[in-house]
Amino acid sequence: TRAIQEFDRVVDSVCPFCGVGCQTKVAVKDNKIVQVDGRNGPANENRLCVKGRFGFDYAMSPERLTKPLIRRDDAPKAGDIDLRNVDPLTVFREATWEEALERATSGLKKILKEDGGQALAGFGSAKGSNEEAYLFQKFVRQGFGTNNIDHCTRLCHASSVAALMEGVGSGAVSAPFMDAMKAECVIIIGSRPTTNHPVAATYFKQAVKKGLKLVIMDPRKQDLMRHATHSLQFKPGSDVAMLNALLHVIVEEKLYDEQYIQANVSGFEALKKKVKDFSPEAMAPVCGIDASVLREVARLYAKSERSMIFWGMGLSQHTHGTDNSRCLIALALITGHVGRPGTGLHPLRGQNNVQGASDAGLIPMYYPDYKSVENVDIRSQYENFWGQTLDPKKGLTVVEIIDAIHADEIKGMYIMGENPAMSDPDQIHARAALAKLDHLVVQDIFMTETAWHADVILPASAHAEKLGTYTNTNRQVQIGRPALDLPGEARQDLDLIIELARRMGLDWNYKHVSEVYTEMAEVMPSLNHISWERIEREESVIYPADGPDVPGNEIVFTSGFPTSDGRGRIVPADLTPPAEVPDEQYPLVLTTGRMLEHWHTGAMTRRAGVLNAIEPQGIAAMNPYEIERQGLHIGDMIEVETRRGTVEAILRADREVADGMVFMPFCFNESPANRLTNPMLDPYGKIPEFKYCAARVQPLTKH
Ligand code: SF4
Repeated sequence: TRAIQEFDRVVDSVCPFCGVGCQTKVAVKDNKIVQVDGRNGPANENRLCVKGRFGFDYAMSPERLTKPLIRRDDAPKAGDIDLRNVDPLTVFREATWEEALERATSGLKKILKEDGGQALAGFGSAKGSNEEAYLFQKFVRQGFGTNNIDHCTRLCHASSVAALMEGVGSGAVSAPFMDAMKAECVIIIGSRPTTNHPVAATYFKQAVKKGLKLVIMDPRKQDLMRHATHSLQFKPGSDVAMLNALLHVIVEEKLYDEQYIQANVSGFEALKKKVKDFSPEAMAPVCGIDASVLREVARLYAKSERSMIFWGMGLSQHTHGTDNSRCLIALALITGHVGRPGTGLHPLRGQNNVQGASDAGLIPMYYPDYKSVENVDIRSQYENFWGQTLDPKKGLTVVEIIDAIHADEIKGMYIMGENPAMSDPDQIHARAALAKLDHLVVQDIFMTETAWHADVILPASAHAEKLGTYTNTNRQVQIGRPALDLPGEARQDLDLIIELARRMGLDWNYKHVSEVYTEMAEVMPSLNHISWERIEREESVIYPADGPDVPGNEIVFTSGFPTSDGRGRIVPADLTPPAEVPDEQYPLVLTTGRMLEHWHTGAMTRRAGVLNAIEPQGIAAMNPYEIERQGLHIGDMIEVETRRGTVEAILRADREVADGMVFMPFCFNESPANRLTNPMLDPYGKIPEFKYCAARVQPLTKH
C-alpha cells in the first residue's frame, strides 16, 4: 500500500465485480488507477478479494474501444469465431459519432417500420448502474414498443426470483448476509462463496468461529466444507430429493412452528402430503447422502433458534431450479426461520448490480419494482407516466429471444454490456442467431464475442468512469463514482441510451444521472425515502426505508409477506430429473461455473493483468480417479464433447470435482464451455440448465 500523497486523487466507489458490493477507495495517478483498497462499507468492513483489489486495470487496457465502428460492407457475419489474433479493422471501419449513431438508429427504425416493435429486442446489463438499467428498459418499452427486454439475471437467479415472488411476494433477500453472524445454523446450498462471493465467505468463517453451525450442500467439495459441521456432497441434480427429505423429517418429527404457520403460511397441508414419500431412507440412494445425516441436518436447521439459508447458481441453474427454491422457501416457512435477525432466505446475487437491474425493470414480464406488464392498471399508470401506449403482453426472455431470431421473428437488437455470444447456452446456436440479425447495435467497452456480430459498435464507459448507483445482494443501494476520464472518443453509457432514444423520436431531456435516479425512485416504492442526495451523503442505504432519516430495514417479512393475502405460500415440489442425463455415449456429467480470479465471460478479468496471470488458460477439471479411469493424464489437452459441440481445454486435476463429473469455467473464449451446455429451460424462471448435461472426454495430447 502506497502513501496517499503519491496519488493525484482517491475516489470513494464500489467494486465492479460481484454482488457483495464491497466499497472501495480507488487511487489515481496520471489518469490511471494505481491501487484499490477496501473502505469501511456495511458489506465489507475494509475487506476486498483478489478481483476487487487487483482486477482494476481492465479499464485501462489498450484493447478498450475508443472509436465508433461500423461493419464493412463486404465483411460477412461470422456466426462462430475465435477472436484471438483477429484484427477488428479487417471487419469494421472507424466512423464518426454522427455516422455511427445515425446508422445505429436508422437500422432499428427500419425494422420498427417494416416489421413492428415485436421484431426488436434489447439486452441490458447487470454490470451497469441502476440508472442505466432503468433508462435501457424504458428505451426498449417506449422506443421499440415491446417488452422484449432482458439481461443476464435470466441466466443466474431467474428461477429463484420466480419461486420467491410466488412464495413470499418479493424477489430480494430477506436479510443481509452479515446476519449469518447472528444465526445458530446456516445452510449454504449450490453456492461456493470463497470463489464467487469471497468477502461474504469471510463473514461465514467468522461466524463459525463464534459458534455458528454451518451446513454446506454441494455436489462438488469446496473450501467452506473445512468450516462446516455437515458437508453434504450430494448427487448433482438431486436437490429436490435431498431437500424434500429434510422437509419430511421436520413434518414427521413435528419440528415445525405450528403457531407461525397458522398465522403466516398457506399450503402446509399440501406439503405434508407431498413429502410423505420422501423419507430420508427412500431418498438416500437418490441423493447419495446417508439417511442419518439428512435427519441430523433437518433437526439442526429446525431446532436452532435462528437459521438462515443461502443459495447460488448450483441450485438455480436447473430445469427444476424453481422447484429447488420452492423447497428452500418451504423449509424457512414451516420453521418460522424468516423475518427475524439471524434467519431468512438469501439468494447470493452474482453481479454487482443484478439486484438493481432486476428491480429497475430490466426484465420482460415486469416494469420497475416487479409490477406486471400484463396488469391493466399498472400498465396504464406507466402509460400516463411515460406518455405513451405500451405493449400489453410480456416479452421474451434471453434464450427465447435467441430462438425467436432463428424463427425470423426478431430481426434487430440493441445490446449494452452483455456478452450472449459467451454467456448463452448452446453457443453455436446463440452465435448463429446473432449473425442472422438484420441489424445489431452493440454498446460495450471491448470487442467482445458479441460485438463481433454487430453492425454498429458504440464505445462506452467502464465502471471506473461513471457515476451511478448499484444495489448489492443485501438490497444496499450504493454509489459508484468516476475515477478515470473516458478513453479516446468513448462516451458514457447513459448518454448513449439518451442519444439513441432522441434519435428514435423520444422526447428525453435528462441533464444529469441524478434526474434519472429521481424519476426511477418516483415509480419504485421500494426506493421511498431514499433520495439521490441521501445515497450520496450516506454512501449506502438499504431498502425498504421507513423515513428519510431512519436507517433502512435490514430484515423484511417481520410481520407477514407482501403477497395478496399477506401469507407466505408453500408450493410443494416434485422430483424431476435433469433434461439430459448421462448414457453410454455421453457417460459424464458436465457442470459449469465461475472461478475466483475470473469474472463471468472474462471480458473484464481476462484483460486484468494480475488475474489473467494467475489463471491464463482454459481448463476442464476432473478428479484424479476419474482422470485415471478415463485413461487421461493431468495437463493433457483434452476434448470435451456434448450433443451440442466440442471444446478443447487443458485437463486439471481437482479433488473437489465428484466422480463421473467434469467441471468447466465459462470465462475462457479459447475453451468456451457454453458451446457445450444444454439450452433446456426451467418452465417458470426460463433459466437454462447450465449445471447439468451429458458429456464425454477424449485426449488430444499423444503420449
Ligand atoms: Fe468485489 Fe465481490 Fe471481491 Fe468484494 S467480494 S471485492 S464485491 S468481487
